[in-house]
Amino acid sequence: MPVPKPLRENSLIGGLIEFFIPPLCTGCAGYYDGEDGICPDCRESIKFIKGAVCLGCHEPIPEKSTTCPQCGEYSLPLFSLGEYESPLSDMIIQMKFKGTSFLANEFAVQIAARLGDAIMKQEADSLVPIPLHPSRERQRGYNQAGLVAARLSELLGIESNESLIVRTKRRRHQAKLELSAREANIKSVFEPTELSGDGQRLILVDDVVTSGATVREAASCLKSVGHEVAAVISISHKV
Ligand SMILES: [Zn+2]
Ligand SMILES: [Zn+2]
Repeated sequence: MPVPKPLRENSLIGGLIEFFIPPLCTGCAGYYDGEDGICPDCRESIKFIKGAVCLGCHEPIPEKSTTCPQCGEYSLPLFSLGEYESPLSDMIIQMKFKGTSFLANEFAVQIAARLGDAIMKQEADSLVPIPLHPSRERQRGYNQAGLVAARLSELLGIESNESLIVRTKRRRHQAKLELSAREANIKSVFEPTELSGDGQRLILVDDVVTSGATVREAASCLKSVGHEVAAVISISHKV
């Protein structure tokens, strides 16, 4: 599977921008003309996370287990590429707000290479990207979690299913809120698209997981129609 070209080279406007503005690293904003958009220094300084972390107790899950031994069935294993620190945090902000959607490819490649084996042990039927509100997706032109899930789907051979839930309410950005306000902010923002699902085992995909309020809400929405949520994948974990 060929690596998709960065967005900036894929369109006329992108080409014009490329002509007038030198290519920059999405992490440090220094000059860098590699197609991946991440200079070697930034790539080196990403704090990668090894293995899964439990979203219940925030402790690492032992390599041989698929769930947290402490939290048992209430555990939601989180597979995150790296900690939410510069330069990874800068890259995610670039991907969300500056149109550098080509980064989704690089994130998916890294997630598959570093966490793919552990993710496959979850034996999931589908990946489900956390949806944006339709108006926000229209504004941005893409759902960053959807792009990562689509590329991961190709790399891991697990279907990406974007049609099981929708976001029905537009809420304030979770990251700007205090922890206590996040749970209330995210309450009932998702709705299932069917009254009764076909009992799939799912892995949710989001860009940044902080308290886990958003993914828990999406998981309970999917469970309410008979699906099972096995784990969560994110680009970054913000503790
Ligand atoms: Zn850099
Ligand atoms: Zn736990």
